[in-house]
Amino acid sequence: MSAHSPLEGVTVIDHPLIRVKLTIVRDRATSSEEFRRELRELATLMTFEVIRDFQTVERVVETPLASYRGAALARPVIIAPILRAGLSFVDGMLQVLSNASVGHIGMYRNETTHRPESYYFKLPSHLGSAEVLVVDPMLATGWSATGAITQLKERGARYLRYVCLVSCPAGLEQLRGAHPDVPIFTAAVDPELNADAYIVPGLGDAGDRYFGTYSFPAST
Ligand code: URA
Repeated sequence: MSAHSPLEGVTVIDHPLIRVKLTIVRDRATSSEEFRRELRELATLMTFEVIRDFQTVERVVETPLASYRGAALARPVIIAPILRAGLSFVDGMLQVLSNASVGHIGMYRNETTHRPESYYFKLPSHLGSAEVLVVDPMLATGWSATGAITQLKERGARYLRYVCLVSCPAGLEQLRGAHPDVPIFTAAVDPELNADAYIVPGLGDAGDRYFGTYSFPAST
């Protein structure tokens, strides 16, 4: 796995499996079943790079033969999906962060103004001492991400990272501008947003494709 940074604080995660799976989820012919499976696996793969520099503390265990000075994560982890599409990343991240808590942030995108409206916020009480991974597969305008992170900081979150699958320059600039202290991890930076605030080429509406709520026909 390798990573590069087109913008300070932004890590683009590159790996052959991530490129292959990202191509499958971009394909409009991919079924909901396959879309879900691939997105889950992408979330697992990305997590390795996202938490690469998590601090650890010493943990001594007894093997059947002797003491061993090993490691434990220094802080608890909270996965904080932005509803609803962010839920698509949770199972995949829990595959490797099985002790993580899951909080939920409801940000509704007003389809006319494209600005976020908050309708739900439920995070565990140890928010201030935890590593918080805010997740949403698409970083489009960046307004929902900005709003979600503002709320998290207001409630005491200190160790924040933002994880998305596909981003675009406008969203990255918005989020970096509003929260320059929050590192962003993405698997792709697509060139543009269209007039409806969809990322192009993107993968369409991630929530609709994951939950199977798009209107048919989707293949014309
Ligand atoms: N949300 C999505 O699901 N897709 C986009 O392209 C933009 C926002």
